[in-house]
Amino acid sequence: MTASETSVTIFDRILSREVAADIVFEDDDILAFRDIAPQAPTHVLFIPKRRIASLDDLVESDVELMGRLLFRAAAFAREQDLAKDGYRCVINSGRDGGQSVAHIHLHLLAGRRMSWPPG
Ligand code: 5GP
Repeated sequence: MTASETSVTIFDRILSREVAADIVFEDDDILAFRDIAPQAPTHVLFIPKRRIASLDDLVESDVELMGRLLFRAAAFAREQDLAKDGYRCVINSGRDGGQSVAHIHLHLLAGRRMSWPPG
């Protein structure tokens, strides 16, 4: 990701409430909202409020934030009774990884049987 790709994304506009989203969780550092084009019956995106463009941009001081992002997704799955049947968490990174928004986001997908390998 280049610096210009990190300037403003649709997720900044969701964070500022300029663009509406179905928000399911928020704290000081994390926002979670339903994906506009769900790929499973439950499809939620967990994002850090502080913009990090991609996994390739992580630095060591981001470790705790990223751990909490993952923990929050797991907590949501438990709370929503998704954990017993299972779910998938995905972070796409870069072009070949299928990343389309330059703001790190964790996909939580649940409610159907997932296949492997992914397409
Ligand atoms: P990526 O392809 O970068 O891993 O995932 C980006 C995700 O953001 C996609 O699943 C896409 O459907 C979702 N998305 C893109 N624009 C919007 C939007 O305006 N609102 C919501 N809720 N999700 C969006």
